[in-house]
Amino acid sequence: MFDAPTISERDETPVDHAVRADAGYPSFDIGALAVLPPADRLVHLRDAIQGPIVFTHGFGIEGQLIFHWICERDLDIDVVTLDTGRLFPETYALWAETERRYGRRIRAVYPDRARLERMVARHGIDGFYDSKVARIACCDVRKVRPLGRALAGAKAWVTGLRKDQSPVRERAGLVGFDTSRGMLKINPLFDWTRDGVLDAIKANAIPISPLHARGFASIGCAPCTRAIAPGEPERNGRWWWENDGHKECGLHLPRSARRAEGR
Ligand code: SF4
Repeated sequence: MFDAPTISERDETPVDHAVRADAGYPSFDIGALAVLPPADRLVHLRDAIQGPIVFTHGFGIEGQLIFHWICERDLDIDVVTLDTGRLFPETYALWAETERRYGRRIRAVYPDRARLERMVARHGIDGFYDSKVARIACCDVRKVRPLGRALAGAKAWVTGLRKDQSPVRERAGLVGFDTSRGMLKINPLFDWTRDGVLDAIKANAIPISPLHARGFASIGCAPCTRAIAPGEPERNGRWWWENDGHKECGLHLPRSARRAEGR
């Protein structure tokens, strides 16, 4: 995930207190956050943080649940999605359905046109299948750089990461400090299971992508996502032709790791 100190209730250290104070969150109480149900964690966060909070929504089951809680509690959290231009038609349909259901607009952030044109001219429209370099370049232009704009000026970043999604994500912690972006990163569903999320989705009749019923566990860009077999790790459906790594596009990697991969 990222190398920054993880300040969950399990491994909070004096160093983490210093990081937190230096970053301007001296009174943010991680222990109090940890014992709350996830929906109340969002309320606690909003009350504790002075300044903008951004939730990046990818229309997966975790995101739909978090968005439901944000709307239900009318929280002043900026909900943003990164429209890569390569999403599934089902994702765009869910996006529209979700806005209709909750009566709330989700802010879309797009790739920089000039960078996108240069990347496609160099690698081709589907160049990501040909090399890791091309795949990283595509994720960089379509996701990582737009994320930087989405988070500009934020004091905290909310994501839908869960620890049981992958060994990489297990290291994220409930709360971390993203040193490369200089902000708190909160994963309110970090200690929830997929089944727990699905139960809450069902109980609240929250719309989700029809792709889940077709075996898509983790849904990203259409050309880079496939269905998985029962029991297969959730992230195996992403960039399945790459067998060397962490199944992450760079959004949740520290700058050092992105640099090591040539981003
Ligand atoms: Fe490009 Fe695939 Fe990354 Fe989407 S997931 S930005 S299409 S390489």
